[in-house]
Amino acid sequence: MPDTSRQIWCCSCHQDVQAELVTGAAIYPHRRDLAHKPMWRCPACGSYIGCHPGTKNPLGTIPSPELRRARILIHDLIDPVWRERHLSRREVYAAMSQRLGWTYHTGNLRTLEEARQAYRAAREIVRGIRGGARA
Ligand SMILES: [Zn+2]
Repeated sequence: MPDTSRQIWCCSCHQDVQAELVTGAAIYPHRRDLAHKPMWRCPACGSYIGCHPGTKNPLGTIPSPELRRARILIHDLIDPVWRERHLSRREVYAAMSQRLGWTYHTGNLRTLEEARQAYRAAREIVRGIRGGARA
């Protein structure tokens, strides 16, 4: 297989799909800042996932639009926790995994139910920090 095609789980199609490598220009024609960013797109439904910075490695599964929004909301909760150094990034993900009972990566969320559980866990972690308690 050339590296322009890769099997990735599509959360909208509920199956592994042969995702195609495109650039941001194909998905966001008006975002010049994203024009050269590699993204993997589902050929069936058009959903897509970005890549780890500087690589063509997908950030995770291809989310449905709803799941994409949910992942962003979760990042909005947990990213400030490590950015503001309340915990290390590793500790945040460890705390999420501990609360959820499964190894947590935002990019690996496959369903809205998983995302809801993750959101609740993230809220508990943030509350623990804001309340001054140990997370
Ligand atoms: Zn799809």
